[in-house]
Amino acid sequence: MTTNLHRDPLAFLGEELEDLRSRHLYRPLRVMSSAQGPMVSVDDRRLISLSSNDYLGLTHHPRLREAALQAVRDFGAGSGAVRTIAGTMTLHEELERDLAAFKGTEATLTFQSGFTANTGVIPTITGEQDLIVSDELNHASIIDGMRLSKAPRKIFKHADVEALRAVLDEAVEKGREGTGLPYRLILVVTDGVFSMDGDIAPLPGIVEAAEAANAAVFVDDAHASGVLGRDGRGSVDHFGLDGRVAIQVGTLSKAVGVLGGYVAGSQDLRDILIQRARPFLFSTSHPPAVAAACSEAIRVMQDEPQLLERLWSNTKRFKAELARLGFDTGRSETPITPVMMGDPDTAGRFSQRLFEEGVFAQPVVFPTVAIDKARIRTIVTAAHSAEQLDQALEAFAAVGRDLGLIAG
Ligand code: PMP
Repeated sequence: MTTNLHRDPLAFLGEELEDLRSRHLYRPLRVMSSAQGPMVSVDDRRLISLSSNDYLGLTHHPRLREAALQAVRDFGAGSGAVRTIAGTMTLHEELERDLAAFKGTEATLTFQSGFTANTGVIPTITGEQDLIVSDELNHASIIDGMRLSKAPRKIFKHADVEALRAVLDEAVEKGREGTGLPYRLILVVTDGVFSMDGDIAPLPGIVEAAEAANAAVFVDDAHASGVLGRDGRGSVDHFGLDGRVAIQVGTLSKAVGVLGGYVAGSQDLRDILIQRARPFLFSTSHPPAVAAACSEAIRVMQDEPQLLERLWSNTKRFKAELARLGFDTGRSETPITPVMMGDPDTAGRFSQRLFEEGVFAQPVVFPTVAIDKARIRTIVTAAHSAEQLDQALEAFAAVGRDLGLIAG
């Protein structure tokens, strides 16, 4: 048994990488040497960026920068501990009060990211006696949250309220497997806006179906935060469903422009998460600058409604022009506009050619999307000028014609 003795025990990693490269699925990191924004510097080139989630342009907004700087001056660079030990500062509590007022919920609790919010909340509030019912295209962090939960789960066809109803009817009728007893909690989980296709969940139907089964609804509003609803309050507000969705998760990392996630719901939800949610208990809290900049962002979103208007007028224009050029933009209804390419190789080449034409727009390939659903995923922001969007569209047209995706 000496054959493996001098072999690099991690050699398989190199083989996996080779396999990814040969299938055009290897994604190198693109490194920006500038601030985030509508124009970015990559490899010494200035490019129009269509790749960020900086919907409102808040990553570099002067008021957020100043709030962050002031927090560093007053409170230092780091928080120094997890929230439950010595890492809760007035800035964290103020942010949570600001968010609760903004969302119109009893309470909120922040997490280090939207990802940790999902992986923290789902396993904390569900167990063996519960059932999680999840849309098949929900975000990876929801999937990981479900994996960490002891609750059984059922997946329903994407955005299909009838399919959801069928799952719920059966769950109510049959009860828990093995015992037939009713579930303690049935939790229906959906993204508010789906991050790869940019479609909006049919929340009114989902809420009605859940109410009929006495189930609670959990909406992950990462891509709806700052984008949908009044001043960007999210998908629940967009559909006028306030009070009927028990749990909303939002992110502070996209439209809010900084970093973090939060859960909005009841005071009991907040209190139990403080006691039990593992990322909250075992990972250090946000640096002061993050909490202060997020609070400022919530105020900017209400003080400067023109940002949201601009985001949507840019979105409508960009989508209409892409469609006019003959591109397939799937089922998008939001600023996330996928430009469908089909195979990963075409998506990679398209993105590279756009780069050469001065546009930074990244391909999304398997396993993030199905193998034949590779796309260039674009997001226009409030910060893009009309000229920048025109230039980007010209580049799409030129590359699309070259690669035979649209008619010449
Ligand atoms: N949920 C959804 C639907 C998302 O798209 C994302 C980000 N890709 C997250 C959660 C995670 O958010 P964050 O970046 O704040 O961790």
